[in-house]
Amino acid sequence: MDCEDIQDRIMDGFVEPGRSLPAEVTAHFASCVTCGDFARRQFALDTQLDDHFGAIRLDQSVRSRIALAVGRERRAERAFLLPDVVHLTTCAGATMVCAAALPASPSVVVASGVLLTAVSYVALALVRSAFESMDRGEAGTSG
Ligand SMILES: [Zn+2]
Repeated sequence: MDCEDIQDRIMDGFVEPGRSLPAEVTAHFASCVTCGDFARRQFALDTQLDDHFGAIRLDQSVRSRIALAVGRERRAERAFLLPDVVHLTTCAGATMVCAAALPASPSVVVASGVLLTAVSYVALALVRSAFESMDRGEAGTSG
């Protein structure tokens, strides 16, 4: 490992905070004047930057707004999936009930249920896609 490699490794230590330098690197800059000076300058600069900028502290109102926004986003994701979940569970339940109750062959009833579920899912996806296109159209004309 030459001095350039050692200095790269020292800088990598700043890119990944908390990562300790390998023993071969610290041993090298302890014995090499150039790398020792480089390391001391970088550590001093890092300390000065920490002193000058410090950690950003968010006040409680910002934390609350972020938590509300994250909660809103999670609810929107669940609301987006809700029609799919209701559709698939309802179709599966109806198919099972029909397979048990109808006098037809259960395999025919299950196959029909799977086919109807797939067809109605495509219809649901098309309606959703149309609504999303309408939303994008409204968003495009308002701005
Ligand atoms: Zn060196």
